[in-house]
Amino acid sequence: MLRWYDTHRRTLPWRAGPGERADPYRVWLSEVMLQQTTVATVGPRFAAWVARWPDFASLARADEADVMAAWAGLGYYARARNLVACARAVVGGHNGAFPRTEAELRALPGIGDYTAAAIAAIAFDEPATVVDANVERVVARLFRLEDKAATRPAAATLTPAERPGDFAQAMMDLGATICTSRGPKCLLCPLREQCAAYAAGDQERYPVKPARADKPTRHGTIFWARNGGDVLLVRRPPKGLLGGMRALPTGPWSAEPPGLADAPAPADWHLLPATVEHVFTHFRLKLVLATAAIDRHAAPDGALWWPIESLGEAGLPTVFAKAASATGEP
Ligand code: SF4
Repeated sequence: MLRWYDTHRRTLPWRAGPGERADPYRVWLSEVMLQQTTVATVGPRFAAWVARWPDFASLARADEADVMAAWAGLGYYARARNLVACARAVVGGHNGAFPRTEAELRALPGIGDYTAAAIAAIAFDEPATVVDANVERVVARLFRLEDKAATRPAAATLTPAERPGDFAQAMMDLGATICTSRGPKCLLCPLREQCAAYAAGDQERYPVKPARADKPTRHGTIFWARNGGDVLLVRRPPKGLLGGMRALPTGPWSAEPPGLADAPAPADWHLLPATVEHVFTHFRLKLVLATAAIDRHAAPDGALWWPIESLGEAGLPTVFAKAASATGEP
C-alpha cells in the first residue's frame, strides 16, 4: 500500500507533499469540511478559508458570525461553531498547537473518534486506525466482512508501525479511486492478491448494508358518521401529520387498536368488516372502520357535513379517501 501510495497518491490542497510534514491545522480543517461534502466541493472552499484564517490563532480571533457565513453550504453550522471553539481551546489551553494523541484530541470541541484518529495518524504519524466510508469499503471487501462492527478491528490489524499516516491516506485514496462502490478497478489494485472478495468475485456485495428496520405499526379507528346523504368531516389540528386538512374523524394512532373510545359523538357504532392499511414515511397504519348514523346536532364543534356523493371534492388525504371507499358508500 505504501509503495502504491508513493506513486498514485492524490494531490489534495490540504495534503503535505511527499516527505513533507502535514500541517495539523489543515488536516483538521479538511477532515471537518469533508464530513458532509465531497472533495471537489471542499477544494476551493478550503483554499479561501486558509487564505483568510491560516492557522489556529487567526481562527481563534475570528468573529463567529464571519465564520458562520464562510461555512454556508458546507453542512451543519454546529461544525463551524465547533471549529471556532476548538481553535480557541487550542490557543487557550494548548499553547496554540494540537495535542498529538487520539485521546487528547477527542477532548477538544467537535472532534469525534474518526477525526481524532485521522489527525493523530495524518498530522502526527501516530499508529491510529482511521476508518472512513472509503476505508470501510476496502476493509469489508478485503476480509469479506458480513458485520460492520468487525471493520475497525480488522482495519487495526493492517495499521503499520511504519508511516501510519501515509497508510491511512493510502487506504482512503484506494477506496476513493480504485475500490469504488460500483465497478471497483480490481486489476489496478495493490491488494488484489490478498482480497477475499476479489477471489470470490462478489466485491460489490460488500460492505453489507444493514437490513432496513421494519416500520412500526400503529392502529387506529376511522369513524364514518352518516346523516342522510352526508358524512361528517373534521379538520385536523394545524400541527402534526396531515395538519389542517379535512379528514374523517379518527382517534389517536397508537401501538394497540384503540376501539371506539374516540368516536366523535355517542351513537350505535359498529365495526365494518373492511380494514384499511396505509404506509407513511415512519410507520405503517392499520385502521378499522366504525359506522353509525348520528344526529346532525351531535356533531362536534368545527365539524362539517359533506355530501357523500361529492366526497371526491373534499380533498381528503389518501388514507381517508381509502377509508371512505372501503365503506362501499361513496
Ligand atoms: S481487489 Fe478489488 S475489491 Fe479487493 S480491495 Fe482491491 S479494488 Fe477493492
